[in-house]
Amino acid sequence: MLETSSTAAIGLHGLVKSYRDTPVIPGLDAELRGGEFTVILGPSGCGKSTLLNCIAGLERLSAGRITIGGREVQEEEPKNRRLAMVFQNYALYPHMTVAENIGYALKVAGVKKPERAARVAEAARIVELGDYLNRRPGQLSGGQRQRVAIARAVVREPQVLLYDEPLSNLDAKLRHDMRVELAGLHRRIGATSVFVTHDQVEAMTLADRIMVLNKGKIEQFDTPEAIYHRPASTFVAGFIGSPAMNLIDVTGEGGMLRFANGTALAAHPHQGPAILGIRPEQVVPSPEGVPAQVTYAEDLGAYAVLTLRLPDGTALRMTTALGARNALSGDLRVSLNAEALHLFDPLTGMALSGSDTHSRTKKVQHDHLPS
Ligand code: ADP
Repeated sequence: MLETSSTAAIGLHGLVKSYRDTPVIPGLDAELRGGEFTVILGPSGCGKSTLLNCIAGLERLSAGRITIGGREVQEEEPKNRRLAMVFQNYALYPHMTVAENIGYALKVAGVKKPERAARVAEAARIVELGDYLNRRPGQLSGGQRQRVAIARAVVREPQVLLYDEPLSNLDAKLRHDMRVELAGLHRRIGATSVFVTHDQVEAMTLADRIMVLNKGKIEQFDTPEAIYHRPASTFVAGFIGSPAMNLIDVTGEGGMLRFANGTALAAHPHQGPAILGIRPEQVVPSPEGVPAQVTYAEDLGAYAVLTLRLPDGTALRMTTALGARNALSGDLRVSLNAEALHLFDPLTGMALSGSDTHSRTKKVQHDHLPS
């Protein structure tokens, strides 16, 4: 059995990384728990790869400390950090067999042949390539090649496995298959894993916890469930979920949230301006709801995404199991599921009142609202 430690937590303490005078990561503190699968998620250019490279030792910190399993590593060479990395471009040696590719780093490190063979066999077994050890990369599918790249990392018995967008070059079906495989792999080897991606589906499906990065700062670091259902900011709310959460300017007045033109939308005790967030799947057809005009409909088979215009001109997206054609042919009235409202501060974008937003709202039928 490969010796992976499932307890090597990664500590990031006051981590700063600047290029010349531009801070890409202006100061970051986080604890990545041992044995967990952490996904670093954010838009292109937010500093995900920079952060991963700092952990790997491929980039020097401008300030701060990194600990792995309690040991300070920021001054250590990458090879001494007991970690292994899987890249997007996982270039395998075309003239070597799968076994030789997987075992190459061990050979370079002077590991003796019998031990090497045993570790290669074990790594190949873990990625389910045991029957392919004598093939060359050209005789493998894209997914199998990716698995060789992962085995090449696993064989080094790392405490920490780092992945830099490893699935980005694969087609949609293979990405899905590899997601399932990676989740299974993580359960089998238990190494602390850090996975960088801009793909929220990968983050939601793979992560124990997701670190959402925005301009080098942590917006939220929590479970996929919490990130989806209790986003800490409009940035997180808009980044996670497809189609994205609706974010609407409202004003709380007299126990009601109202559009700019005064139309009441939902009961809520908030006073003053706010941004109301509601996911498209929480906008529901309701005979007593707000009249809505469908301006665009995308029929995705299992469900449709409708873009609606409300009487005050606000655009609202909803998903519905109704066929798009049916939806287009009728008058639509919609209401917002009061259990699923989110309120954000219009100045800072931060969530207001957290989860108790939900408990304090109750479903309101439009006909019963004071106008
Ligand atoms: P991400 O992985 O989230 O797409 P990166 O970590 O690659 O983002 O880059 C974050 C920012 O740092 C970007 O603005 C990028 O241009 C900048 N950057 C990355 N590497 C360098 C470098 N070697 N020199 C200068 N700027 C860099």
